[in-house]
Amino acid sequence: MNSVRVRFAPSPTGPLHIGGVRTALYNYLFAKKHNGTFILRIEDTDQSRFVEGAEQYINNSLDWCNIPYDEGPNKPGQFGPYKQSERKSLYKNYADQLIAEDKAYFAFDTPEQLDALRKEYESKGETFIYNWHNRNLLQNSLHLTEQEVQQKLSEGHPYVIRFKVPENTMLDLKDEIRGDININTSTLDDKILFKSDGMPTYHLANIVDDHLMEITHVIRGEEWLPSLALHVLLYKAFKWNIPHFAHLPLILKPTGKGKLGKRDGVAGGFPVFPLQWTDPKTNEIASGYKEDGYLPEAVINMLAFLGWNPGTEQEIFSLEELIESFELSRVNKAGAKFDPEKSLWFQQQHLQLKDDSFFVEQFEEILREKQITTDLDVRKIVLSIKERAIFTKDLWDLSVFYFESPTQYDEKDLKKAIKEDTSELMQELTDILKSINNFESTTISDTVKNWIKSKEIGFGKVMMPLRLALVGSLQGPDLFEICAILGKEESIRRIEYFINNS
Ligand code: GLU
Repeated sequence: MNSVRVRFAPSPTGPLHIGGVRTALYNYLFAKKHNGTFILRIEDTDQSRFVEGAEQYINNSLDWCNIPYDEGPNKPGQFGPYKQSERKSLYKNYADQLIAEDKAYFAFDTPEQLDALRKEYESKGETFIYNWHNRNLLQNSLHLTEQEVQQKLSEGHPYVIRFKVPENTMLDLKDEIRGDININTSTLDDKILFKSDGMPTYHLANIVDDHLMEITHVIRGEEWLPSLALHVLLYKAFKWNIPHFAHLPLILKPTGKGKLGKRDGVAGGFPVFPLQWTDPKTNEIASGYKEDGYLPEAVINMLAFLGWNPGTEQEIFSLEELIESFELSRVNKAGAKFDPEKSLWFQQQHLQLKDDSFFVEQFEEILREKQITTDLDVRKIVLSIKERAIFTKDLWDLSVFYFESPTQYDEKDLKKAIKEDTSELMQELTDILKSINNFESTTISDTVKNWIKSKEIGFGKVMMPLRLALVGSLQGPDLFEICAILGKEESIRRIEYFINNS
């Protein structure tokens, strides 16, 4: 087999949805697994759908996700240019070739005429399809004389070039994920390949470019499966090698009903875009994984599992591990239900894989932003709470009690923690703490635990009020670690405040 060449071919018609990122990712993983080449091709032939900033957004998204391309608009290779609007001059010849070989034809039907036909069919309860059964009766070069056609062309009548889909032929299509698909060509319509604005349609440009760029595997979303028959017919018409095709399953709403869309994200409070996007027309802002605080490796891992699994128990994968494990044959046919909770889980797992210095740096940055200076050991603080964080931004909420001593306590917590002898016990505890010379967590722990044992009381009787006194809630890291970090004086001060104010 030729060396693998795959492409991600988005149209810059808006922000790239996470489904698009997943398509890019699968292409990338497949290419890297096979020492192949991953190409980015911008499919911008439909000028009417052009959206300012969308192409830059695609680049920024792939960049942030660490899915680099080997060839693309910003990385010229020998098959460029990689933007279809810059390849414009190339496509017409291919359309002309098909006309010359009687595999395509000029059609002059006006939108009004086609509309009238659609309505007429509808009124009979039928659907109008422009194909073999009526093409010879319509305003096209199959029906008009050569002279009429030339005249229309020279007079500048708007036209399109349509593909003449062969009649009543059984096609045996192959999809790497779905297996064999059989379809009769008589059900297809004569798709438009070229428009009189001088631009090819998606179908023509897409297959011409896949051919010229020597693409070996077309890996794309399921929404393109209905175009597969046409694309294969075009390859056959040009007598070109047909690449392998793999159509990826849809990403479904969390309910499993229908495709995941922008509105689902708004309703469910989760992003469906990799980066934040501001609509250039409405200024409406859509949230992004990056800005919400996700790590790119968590997003990649989550997306990899939306439609694929390695066939083992392992769920946490680095990009390198994904490359090693990825197999197209393990991609599912069925749609993949998006699970916002699972995204959070992937995020937490990947955050916890970061080394201590990452947490310290992030935390120092947070403190700088909040203009907090402290004598406390910042490293110890962040390491004491890091495992409870899902996002780095959680580090502050989890550690705030170190910097701001509690002044109020929750009624319910107080009810749980305070017994008749609490005040007395807390008083005694302060004396115990005062007596400790080496104020480190193990010494504090040993001393306090021995004291509790000697009193023959339950641990909770001391630990719960102590926790409330130090943290202000019944949650948080190891209490003796907290004592050690706060220091003897501050710990005792908080306990005394608690005795007097609870
Ligand atoms: N331009 C198409 C899109 O926006 C590409 C489909 C394909 O990969 O063939 O998804």
